[in-house]
Amino acid sequence: MEPQITARPDHNISRKQISDAALKVLYGLKDAGYTAYLAGGGVRDLLLGRNPKDFDVATNATPEEVRKIFRNCRIIGRRFRLAHVYFHNENIEVSTFRAPAPPADEAPPAEDNTFLAKDGLVLRDNLFGTPEEDALRRDFTVNALFYNIADFSIIDYVNGRRDLENRILRVIGDPDQRFTEDPVRILRAIRFSAALGFDIEPSAREAIRRHAARLEDCSSSRLYEEIQKLLSCGKAEQVFNLCCELEAFEHIFPELGAWLNAPDGEGKTHWLKKSFAQIDRWRAAGFNVDPALLFSLIFGEYHEWVASQIMQNEDLPYADALIEATHRHIRQLDRIRIPKAITHHIAEIMSGQPRFLKMTSKNAQRIMRHRCFLDAFLYFKFAARTAGRHTAELEWWEQQRKAG
Ligand code: ATP
Ligand code: MG
Repeated sequence: MEPQITARPDHNISRKQISDAALKVLYGLKDAGYTAYLAGGGVRDLLLGRNPKDFDVATNATPEEVRKIFRNCRIIGRRFRLAHVYFHNENIEVSTFRAPAPPADEAPPAEDNTFLAKDGLVLRDNLFGTPEEDALRRDFTVNALFYNIADFSIIDYVNGRRDLENRILRVIGDPDQRFTEDPVRILRAIRFSAALGFDIEPSAREAIRRHAARLEDCSSSRLYEEIQKLLSCGKAEQVFNLCCELEAFEHIFPELGAWLNAPDGEGKTHWLKKSFAQIDRWRAAGFNVDPALLFSLIFGEYHEWVASQIMQNEDLPYADALIEATHRHIRQLDRIRIPKAITHHIAEIMSGQPRFLKMTSKNAQRIMRHRCFLDAFLYFKFAARTAGRHTAELEWWEQQRKAG
């Protein structure tokens, strides 16, 4: 298929907006005789007038050939090898144009990028492909545009520019197939839609509803990584709204989702919405908030509810029941593999809560010295305001903090 080409005068990407590191890589490849394109989110964000998070490069040079050009280069990845070119403050990912993924019933590729079927037949001798194939294996049309360093044009195999103009997130290919192949794309769709303010096209929305349950079978480390991105994209509240609308939330946090979707669930989204909005406010203010505090906010009301159940059914004091509730949920969270240090910190934040109800200066002196004090206090403050409770205690602690 012939791509649509937009020449330099007809688009707004200028080399000034591309980092020196990315330009060095693009020109290094071009001067060595290879095709070199800026690809992925970098092109999308520049066309939208946004600041790209990072720059990815796509080329017809193999990773070994890339390494011959750049001394500061390492090859990573087993399934599909990528070259990383390192600069002192930036790392450019260089991927060789990639062929479409093989059907799921083929064996995984051997180390040398050779595809072997179960009977040992060589199906394809490498995973590399043409620029067109590389565009088509990407997730959304707006993520599949190339910026060609040879003539500064935009190369578009998928009508990505049209979708970018209309602010539509469109899956490349058949949404059912693409979300089945890789369900993490569901979360990516939600993130891009929220962060960029794009509408997800209707057939993709329907496909997300049909396939969201597949998120439960995804690799836990990829899920965790994507959840981090969802929380830090600056539009976490909109992410939450979309997750609810598209019935994906319960497949990311099943226990919390089941609680939210229970018949008496109305009203429960209030706390969650507030917590995602708070996460966005911290982000906008540039606060580097510990992920444990973010998760504590999101899970907080649910933990408190479970604690009240435990308190009734198992006859425990509330403080102990809250610790027990938090630990139970943390054990269930194994599926998204939150690192141990973070789950430990969540438990500390939650177990510290009952201490804020005791207003004595001796107590204040003791716990304000604690390493977790600030995060626990930020939770307390959020919870007090959101639930409209402990107003006197909150005021008292604010004064202690000013005095201390
Ligand atoms: P950002 O970096 O702003 O999060 P991005 O679009 O650059 O967004 P990356 O995760 O950096 O996202 O990936 C770079 C490009 O690789 C994407 O733009 C897309 O073309 C392709 N890509 C990434 N993940 C997938 C996936 N799961 N399926 C298909 N293509 C993908
Ligand atoms: Mg990127």
